Amino acid sequence: MSAIALNLQVVRQKIITACAKSGRQTGAVRLLAVSKTRPVADVWAAILAGQSDFGENYVQEGVGKILALRELSPLAEPVWHFIGPLQSNKTRLVAEHFTWVHSIERFKIAERLSAQRPEHLPPLQVCIQVNVSGEASKSGCAPADLPELCRKVAALPRLTLRGLMCIPAPAADFAAQCQPFAALRRMFLDLQGEGLPLDTLSMGMSDDLEAAIHEGATCVRVGTAIFGARKKS
Ligand SMILES: *Cc1c(COP(=O)(O)O)cnc(C)c1O
Repeated sequence: MSAIALNLQVVRQKIITACAKSGRQTGAVRLLAVSKTRPVADVWAAILAGQSDFGENYVQEGVGKILALRELSPLAEPVWHFIGPLQSNKTRLVAEHFTWVHSIERFKIAERLSAQRPEHLPPLQVCIQVNVSGEASKSGCAPADLPELCRKVAALPRLTLRGLMCIPAPAADFAAQCQPFAALRRMFLDLQGEGLPLDTLSMGMSDDLEAAIHEGATCVRVGTAIFGARKKS
């Protein structure tokens, strides 16, 4: 068995255990394998180990892998999620090649993605990224601006607004990790209460996925724990 297949088993077991502890069903949490900086061979090894969802942060790199994998494995195409910062001059490639975008933080980007989503594809599935830690340097929509942004994005014809995403600052222990995830969950519940049909809380990475699942994550984005440490660029 490949190292990646073994790591995937360990991560899946962590998800099962975290769900059991919180009284949640295992099927309620989707595992997204974050393959940024990884070669196509690593993605392929994960596909062979049964992994179906992959996250990419950089547009050109991600599209290159999507096309390479389509050649390798036309019948078992994975589901590709764009999770990185997105500039307006790169939206077309994302609209044409990805199924999901987790990192919407401005209306202008959402509008372009909707206009550029090809007719033959289903609507692009999107989450709004929220700056839960409130740090000026961090990306994401400010919590105060979230309700209006959600209402406007939900009205775009070629996007389906599915939920919220966050990347909190690293925290020292489980209780501290839970706080920003709980805050995101409260915003999610408020928006549902306003009538938005949201079903996705994209939160939790290699080091904090248990806390995220405890607070209701429906999608965890895991890179290092599956593929090993990334090289510093
Ligand atoms: C890199 C990245 C991840 C995965 O982080 P790990 O700590 O390697 O699990 C998850 N989400 C986003 C948005 C990322 O950029």
